[in-house]
Amino acid sequence: MTHPDFGLSKPLTPPLYPSAVYTLPDLDALDAIYEHRTPGFIYARDGHPNATQLASELTQLSAAQWGVVTGSGMGAIAAACLAFLKAGDRVLLSRRLYGKTIRLLQDECTRFGVVVELVDSSDLAAVANALQASHYQLMIVETLSNPLCRVADIPQLAHLTHDHQCRLLVDNTFASPVMCRPLELGADLVMESLTKIINGASDITLGFLAGRQTADGQRVASVVSTWGLAANPFDCWLTMRNLSTLDLRVRTASTNALAVARWLKDQPAVSRVVYPGLTDHPDHALAGRLLEHGYGHMLCFELAGGRKAVNTWMRATPQIPFAPSLGHSDTTCSHPATTSHRYETPEARAAEGITDGLIRLSVGCEPLEPLLRILAQGLQQLGA
Ligand SMILES: *Cc1c(COP(=O)(O)O)cnc(C)c1O
Repeated sequence: MTHPDFGLSKPLTPPLYPSAVYTLPDLDALDAIYEHRTPGFIYARDGHPNATQLASELTQLSAAQWGVVTGSGMGAIAAACLAFLKAGDRVLLSRRLYGKTIRLLQDECTRFGVVVELVDSSDLAAVANALQASHYQLMIVETLSNPLCRVADIPQLAHLTHDHQCRLLVDNTFASPVMCRPLELGADLVMESLTKIINGASDITLGFLAGRQTADGQRVASVVSTWGLAANPFDCWLTMRNLSTLDLRVRTASTNALAVARWLKDQPAVSRVVYPGLTDHPDHALAGRLLEHGYGHMLCFELAGGRKAVNTWMRATPQIPFAPSLGHSDTTCSHPATTSHRYETPEARAAEGITDGLIRLSVGCEPLEPLLRILAQGLQQLGA
């Protein structure tokens, strides 16, 4: 097998290396790579150039010491659990976490003898009490929760957990490193689902786990290889293409989201708007302190007519696709009551404020005026 000779030139854009295995000149070279005396690759499950390159960019963006790319966001959370938990360990979870994260801990990790407790992580006294009452190895929170964008007070949570020798893992997916770098605020570990705004094109699934202690990074790399959580080269390569526009996309989507939230507030058909950039959001001030470049791309609004009104609105606005994910470069909508919170009891949903009329928007970075026109066209149908 021959490789192209680039001479004095080299490609501007990063090549894709789908190779599952790497060849080596001799046994001494193999030893040097195994012993980390020289860089190099041996087998793609243990590491490959496209993952290494993506991880290195994201590690810088996250102000981390180390970072590992995984096959999905759930893979990154699974890697953290597998790397740092053992039978008998306790984990404290924000009760507003992404549903699959709660399932992973409550249904899967408990089978391996891990004990899981839920807490309202916005209630710092309740967190302090829980940490006082038992020893926890790990606490997991989200910078911005789904769908109502409650903001985690990461600096305070880091103080509380560290007082009790507990690691703090922050899922930063809704914020992205452009808006928040939890490791700078005291967290020990941060994860991102790259599937969402970091790639921003809804055409890959990948995750990222990063931290501050080198020993943690070695442990995570070993777990990712052994449990087979590695990312594939093509997804890493696609994501690399989009990293250079991440900053632009996050800022523009954030600016759009604030404008959309303010506009929705004035619409008679809309009974409630939930966005941390609005002064009536319970975490508006906290968001202002912890987030940069605005308040994010996620917002919710409620139609008084419940499920029927949501269906009418969705049918009138096919330009805003119903897609139960987020972070796409164009605006999409979702419906928490029948998607992310489908398996919660109606009472639990009501207690959280997730009504049948609540629509979640993942605001994109398209031009604002046409987007407002489409939103208006949908709301007009409700009056008819
Ligand atoms: C999507 C998501 C995940 C899981 O990521 P995948 O890439 O879908 O596995 C975890 N946390 C949050 C907040 C998410 O939105």
